[in-house]
Amino acid sequence: MFSYAPAPESRSVVDIASSYGLFIDGSFDPAKDGGTFKTVNPASEEVLAEVAAAGSEDVDRAVAAARRAFESWSALPGSERAKYLFRIARIIQERSRELAVLESLDNGKPIKESRDVDLPLVAAHFFYYAGWADKLGYAGFGPDPRPLGVAGQVIPWNFPLLMLAWKIAPALATGNTVVLKPAETTPLSALFFADVCRQADLPPGVVNIVTGAGDTGAYLVQHPDVNKVAFTGSTEVGREIARAVAGTGKRLTLELGGKAANIVFDDAPIDQAVEGIVNGIFFNQGHVCCAGSRLLVQESIAEELLTSLKRRMSTLRVGDPLDKNTDIGAINSAAQLARITELSEIGGAEGAERWSPECQLPDRGFWFAPTIFTGVTQAHRIAREEIFGPVLSVLTFRTPAEAVEKANNTPYGLSAGVWSEKGSRILAIADKLRAGVVWANTFNKFDPASPFGGYKESGYGREGGRHGLEAYLA
Ligand code: NAD
Ligand code: MG
Repeated sequence: MFSYAPAPESRSVVDIASSYGLFIDGSFDPAKDGGTFKTVNPASEEVLAEVAAAGSEDVDRAVAAARRAFESWSALPGSERAKYLFRIARIIQERSRELAVLESLDNGKPIKESRDVDLPLVAAHFFYYAGWADKLGYAGFGPDPRPLGVAGQVIPWNFPLLMLAWKIAPALATGNTVVLKPAETTPLSALFFADVCRQADLPPGVVNIVTGAGDTGAYLVQHPDVNKVAFTGSTEVGREIARAVAGTGKRLTLELGGKAANIVFDDAPIDQAVEGIVNGIFFNQGHVCCAGSRLLVQESIAEELLTSLKRRMSTLRVGDPLDKNTDIGAINSAAQLARITELSEIGGAEGAERWSPECQLPDRGFWFAPTIFTGVTQAHRIAREEIFGPVLSVLTFRTPAEAVEKANNTPYGLSAGVWSEKGSRILAIADKLRAGVVWANTFNKFDPASPFGGYKESGYGREGGRHGLEAYLA
């Protein structure tokens, strides 16, 4: 077995101030009532910065700034808006090392993911929608589709900058202005993005960032002068928002939780499937709404596959997110760690068999060893509820029909994976799966040109691709 010497990425590429204000109308100001909260590095519990907590008057001011900016922003020719988006995309590329380190510090994700996945996708998203801005008349929504107005956007902590890109890029390309609220445990990359907007000379008020907790998000989505609400996060909060928005005439898209089935047939290439299973559930510590959190494996190969999977899991390196060799970083918060711990204990208590490779977890910070449960049945809570951590539930099936039935037996429907050598089988199964995205012989592949979104309790509306424009057009 190899042992790896530490290979830390330098922290000095990013300058974090001790405190940050709200980004409203092009400048940073404290909250009106002086409220603040702290954001920590989940790998060390060190406080990174103190951030303003926006109250209702601050949200009012942000929405008013977005409303004023809407008039001239929406009147610009698409080709002019495109120039700003291309500029933002290029600045993100230029600052990608700094932003990747920042994201890993505030979120806990491994640097190799923030550097090689999050940041390239963030830039790609802005490039992609920049390309649409002057072609909206050809997108299939009529010759002159109009923007909605002010978009209130609330995002989670698992992909802070990427979720920001998914929200802001299509909104701006279509001529809307934005007030965005990042999650309370990961506000920093959105505040650095505000600086990117200034660097790109984006007109004041086109993008406003209000930091704060759930109450700030609630003020934003309930604000009477917001025309469009876009939310990514838990199904529970999504329901609350749907209730708040009902009957107001606001447009709404919701991207909520998932409990994806990753289905492996007996003719699948086993080694490739094992890599896909590992990527499906351990990527980003399993803090992924489309994570392959339920492995459905054909009974005849279950033993062989699980042996390979356990061997592979024993090589996963858990630890310092800034170490370039780290595969699994820190759990984003103490609260999330408590939730993962609780559901895993329930899994054991309900009779599933728990296994983790031997691994040394750091003393400080929030950590959870990669874990699999075998002998899981449909009735177990770990087969039904989103754990949102590095925990995989393994079920078996005998026939394709049983695989489909088990895969669809969930209140969610965000994503799924199918592993088989037979193209015809993949197409037949994909057709029957009630999930917004189905990956074939791969998992967790993202592309700005490809629409993403859910069925059932996973939400509604699509983000990404041409479909993603629709949510921001009248
Ligand atoms: P959450 O839904 O509470 O938070 C997501 C965002 O919504 C945050 O910015 C939060 O401040 C904001 N928010 C909270 N209450 C709000 C309200 N009433 N009105 C408007 N905005 C509000 O999610 P969480 O607490 O961070 O995580 C809880 C669970 O949600 C996780 O365990 C996981 O299962 C799920 N989750 C899913 C996703 C996803 O991408 N689908 C992302 C994060 C969390
Ligand atoms: Mg943090």
